[in-house]
Amino acid sequence: MPTINRRTIMLGAAAGASGALLSGLPSGLATAQTATTMPAGNAGFYRFRIGDIAATVLSDGVIGGPPRVYAGDAPEAELEEVLRRAFLPNDHLTLNLNTVLLEIGERRVLLEAGAGATMGPNGGRLFDNLRAIGLTADDIDLVVISHTHPDHVGNLRTADGERAFRRANVMAPRADWAFFVDGEPDLSYMPVPPEFRQRFAANIKRSLEPIAREVELYEAGAEILPGLTTLSAAGHTPGMAAFLVHSAGDQLLLTADLAYHPVVNIDRPWRPGPDRDGETAAVARRRIFDRAAADRMLVLGFHYPFPGLGRILRTDTGYAWVPAGWQF
Ligand SMILES: [Zn+2]
Repeated sequence: MPTINRRTIMLGAAAGASGALLSGLPSGLATAQTATTMPAGNAGFYRFRIGDIAATVLSDGVIGGPPRVYAGDAPEAELEEVLRRAFLPNDHLTLNLNTVLLEIGERRVLLEAGAGATMGPNGGRLFDNLRAIGLTADDIDLVVISHTHPDHVGNLRTADGERAFRRANVMAPRADWAFFVDGEPDLSYMPVPPEFRQRFAANIKRSLEPIAREVELYEAGAEILPGLTTLSAAGHTPGMAAFLVHSAGDQLLLTADLAYHPVVNIDRPWRPGPDRDGETAAVARRRIFDRAAADRMLVLGFHYPFPGLGRILRTDTGYAWVPAGWQF
């Protein structure tokens, strides 16, 4: 079909519907043709810099569930009121999947692999978003995982069971590997139905199986490479780490799953229901949030609204999330 741009159509319309350009075309085609020139949906990547390090948030899409799961100790009426005032539904909280590509010197490092198909139909966009910036999975040199929950490791396995990032080393926290992969974890602490827990546990082992022989296990707190350090943030899982990216006086803190959504876990002090050790997680959350607030650090939350960038403000009663302005 010949393309007809808006100008051509307007000229044709000005010449009258019986003009040569539009003769024989059904009414309404002008609108349809204009619409096809627009890309479907919005960008799922977002670029910024930390000193000399180029960073790109690459969305893997979204997951979600009942708000109660993500705010385990919230009084019911208060939770409903907080969601209402944030214009959020009270039966479903959407969580983003903000993986981050770092270009550190010659190396392309992906922080978190994303969920893929392990947590519902709206994950798995990472590869499209890599393509949108001109890359494929084979361009990734290193994948570093904060903890081994399925929404952070799902994309490591292709649909046919192969390694998705064929050239990449994969690094995961040692204590998580021992608990979730080597062990048979008791996940009864998670406030979800038993079938969900079984699928969750199976998806961890399944996603990690293709890289099990080559995985490099790290201790939370270790430096991964110059410019990328891990901070112990255990509690949510036995080995969870937060990430600190630093270069030329700039810093970025990635909070992993210390908080799921700023509205319930930063602006309010409620604890994520799936924290395995709630008290240890709360201590890690305070320690890392206090540092972020004191140093006025740029913060990126894996599950916060895309692209997940902002700052944490200390308030009289706790913390407040302040989203960063969009950089064009
Ligand atoms: Zn997560």
